[in-house]
Amino acid sequence: LSSIGEVLAYLKSNNIINIEKRAKYIQDFINKENRYTGYEYDRYLEYGASNLSNVITENSGNKKECILWCVNHYLSLNRNKTIIEKACDVLRKFGTGCGTSASSCGMSSLHKEVEKKIAKLVGKEKAILFPTGFTANMAAISYLAGNNDLIIFDRECHSSIINGLKLSNAKWVSFKHNNVLDLESKIVKYKNSYDNIFVIVESAYSMSGDLAPLKEIVSLKKQYNFYLYVDEAHTFGIYGDKGQGYCYNEGVSEDVDFIMSTLSKSTASIGGFVATKEKYCSLLKWSDPYVFQACMTPADASVVLSSIEEIERNTWMIKELHKKNKYMRELLKIKGFNLGNSQSPIIPIFIEDHKKLRMVVKDLYYEGIYSTPICYPAVKLREGRIRLILNISHTEENIKITVDVLEKICKRHKVI
Ligand code: PMP
Repeated sequence: LSSIGEVLAYLKSNNIINIEKRAKYIQDFINKENRYTGYEYDRYLEYGASNLSNVITENSGNKKECILWCVNHYLSLNRNKTIIEKACDVLRKFGTGCGTSASSCGMSSLHKEVEKKIAKLVGKEKAILFPTGFTANMAAISYLAGNNDLIIFDRECHSSIINGLKLSNAKWVSFKHNNVLDLESKIVKYKNSYDNIFVIVESAYSMSGDLAPLKEIVSLKKQYNFYLYVDEAHTFGIYGDKGQGYCYNEGVSEDVDFIMSTLSKSTASIGGFVATKEKYCSLLKWSDPYVFQACMTPADASVVLSSIEEIERNTWMIKELHKKNKYMRELLKIKGFNLGNSQSPIIPIFIEDHKKLRMVVKDLYYEGIYSTPICYPAVKLREGRIRLILNISHTEENIKITVDVLEKICKRHKVI
């Protein structure tokens, strides 16, 4: 077993469920791996990502400065001075924490402002906030579809979506990734057997950077009439001139029933939302994660508000991100990298062989380029990859160095 992913898959397929046995397998693998490669699994940032000098700290205490490629702060707003100042004022005025769930009075006027602002931005009647994107998906997907409904979801959907549908009372079936024909065949096959069909997709897929064919899916919706749910975690704030998202960008917002996103990526805070008709938001207020979970804090809400204001005011930021995305993709393609069908600022470098993937990631780290290997269970066993997530504070120099080093190391390991 040459990766944690393979260990996890092995435990699952051999039905090894005992806590002690599972813990031993994982620990043994980590110890072996540390001895073998000298690459420690546990690493963390000295401070939050700055992109100018991100210092990685190893368990041993060693520190190393790296160009960081694995955080989702697409617009680098996590280091925006105005946003930080406002959040500090909010902390002084509102205090820390929120004390309880949204339904038992954990929300402040700032949360309400965030909901209004988001609903207006994405073009929906209302938005409802959750403490993370994960629980927003879990709440909505488990609670919206009923006993006699069917959920049809893209095979590459995020774990929060899968967990949501596992908790729901509905039946579910997947369709081939971004394959509208397969989706249509599933709809045709099942449409008379269920009260409602819910189709769930992501506007940009978190592990591959592929964009969803939203226009085609919407024309299917017009033909067959189903509920459409789009997770915009990787597009909210960075598509559309003011960050309205990819549904807006494609001109289909009105046809999408539920627009969901996290607030931890482009808006550099924490939290999640579902934006939809008012009546569905009222329904979602009775979902367990809304009733029984603490909500995001007023300071988190303030960061979202200020981030959206910054995005709306500085429309150059989104353009800059896409310009850099185009530049980096061109460089990588010239060097012979296969970027699959990816388009968003998530750039995958596919390396099927687990050992090679780990060696490449390790060698990149020693050259000051930090990204984490993406393996099972995030993707299928033989579909490992390095994921480079662009943000606007990556300079052209950072991009060039990264591509050159990547080329050198990938050639060494015969990946390209
Ligand atoms: N959906 C997608 C597509 C995601 O990539 C993520 C986060 N990785 C989530 C939902 C969950 O968001 P959060 O991190 O805010 O829980």
